[in-house]
Amino acid sequence: MSIDIEHAETEIEEVVDLYANFVNPGLASLMKFAGFGDVELSASGCYLYTVGGKKFLDCVGGYGVFSLGHRNPVVVNAVKDQLELMPLSTRTFFNSRTAQLAAKLAEITPGGLQYTFFSNSGTEAVEAALKIARIATGKTDFISTFDAYHGKTFGALSATGRDVFRKPFEPLVPGFHHVKFGDADALAAAITEKTAAIILEPIQGEGGIIVPPDDYLARASQICKDFGILLIADEVQTGFGRTGKFFACEHSNVEPDILCLAKCLGGGVMPIGATIGTHDVWTKAFGNNPLIHTSTFGGNPLACAAGLAAIQVIQDEGLVEASEVRGAQFMNGLKTIQRDMPADLVEVRGKGLMIGLEFAVKDVAELTINGMSRRGVIAAYTLNNPCVIRIEPPLIITSDEIDFALNALRESITEAVDMLADL
Ligand code: PMP
Repeated sequence: MSIDIEHAETEIEEVVDLYANFVNPGLASLMKFAGFGDVELSASGCYLYTVGGKKFLDCVGGYGVFSLGHRNPVVVNAVKDQLELMPLSTRTFFNSRTAQLAAKLAEITPGGLQYTFFSNSGTEAVEAALKIARIATGKTDFISTFDAYHGKTFGALSATGRDVFRKPFEPLVPGFHHVKFGDADALAAAITEKTAAIILEPIQGEGGIIVPPDDYLARASQICKDFGILLIADEVQTGFGRTGKFFACEHSNVEPDILCLAKCLGGGVMPIGATIGTHDVWTKAFGNNPLIHTSTFGGNPLACAAGLAAIQVIQDEGLVEASEVRGAQFMNGLKTIQRDMPADLVEVRGKGLMIGLEFAVKDVAELTINGMSRRGVIAAYTLNNPCVIRIEPPLIITSDEIDFALNALRESITEAVDMLADL
C-alpha cells in the first residue's frame, strides 16, 4: 500500500512538472494553489477519481459540460458503436448522424430555428454566429455586454466583455460595442444603422452567474424585431437543462434568430459546437455560397452520435425537470448558509443548477474552493469574477449529494474566514 502511495505521489509530481515545463507554468502554480494539485484518473456519474486515490463530488461539471454526469453509458455506447463504423466524415458524402442531429436540434430548439452549422467548441459556435449575422444582414456591428463571455478566438473575444482578456490582443475585430448587462434600454440606445445583431447570454456564466431582470431577454428580442436586427443567444453554458428549462431562452419565451450551443451537447463525452439559425438567416448567409463558412471536423459522426444520445438521455431521464427540482434544493440550502454568514457570503443567485455564490472578498472565495477540495467537493470561481464561486453539478446529482456539498461548503467558508482573521 505504502509503495502505491509513493508511486502515486511520484506520478503526480511528474505530471505537475510536465505542466510547469511544457504546458503552462503559471497555470500549474494556479491549479496547485487552488487545491487541485492532483491528477485526474477516471470519472463516473457525479464523481472524479484521482491518481492520488481521492474521490471528488464534481460540483463544477466542466462548466456545463458534464450535465449528464461523467461517462454516461448511453452516450459512451453510442460513441463506441459509431467508432466501429466511422469516426470522422470524408466530407464528400452525406452523413446520417450529422443529418439526424441537425433535425433533432431543429425539433428541440425554440421557434423557427431550423438549420445547424456544426463546429467543435463554444468559441467556434460564436464565430460562426457572428459571421453568419454579418453576411445575413450586410451590416458590420454588434452589441454585446460588459463581463459577457463568448470565447477567446478573435471574433468571440471581440464580443467578450472583460478587458483582462481583450486588451493584450487589441486591435480586435472592429464594430463591437459593449453595454451594461441587464439594461434593455442601453441595448436600444446602442443600435445604429450599422448594427447587425445583439449577442447575449441569457444568464452570464463566466461574468459571475448574473441573472438579468425577468423581462430583459424578451425586451431585447422585441428591440431586435423593432430595429430589424438579429438576436444571437449564446447558450453554450445555459443550454440543455442547466437552468431548469431545456434552453434558458424559454424562461422568457424568446425565439432568437441564431442560437449558439456547445459544452453539454456532446453529452460529456465528445467536443462539439453548434450554431443554429432560422430559414431566413440561413438563406441569406449560405444562399450564394454554401461553403462560405466550413469546418473540417465540425459535425463529425462521432460527436454527432454523442449529441443524439445526449439529447435522448436528457429527455428520457427527465434531466430538465431534475435541474429545476435539485436546483431549488441547492438554492434553499445555500440561502440558509448565506443567512448565517451574510458578511462573508453576500449573495446566492442563479436558476436551476447554474448557481453563483458571491463572496465579499476574493481571498475567502479562493480559500473556500481550496477547503471544499480538501473535503472532496470540486467547486471553481468564474473566469470574469474571482469573488464568485459557481455551482454547476451534473443534473443527475442526488439529494444526499447536495447535502454533502452544502456541508462541505459551510465548513470551508467558516475555516476560510477563521484563517484570514488569524493573519
Ligand atoms: N460562450 C459561453 C456562454 C461560454 O460559457 C463559453 C465557455 N465558458 C464559451 C462561449 C466558449 O466556449 P469554449 O471554451 O468551448 O470555446
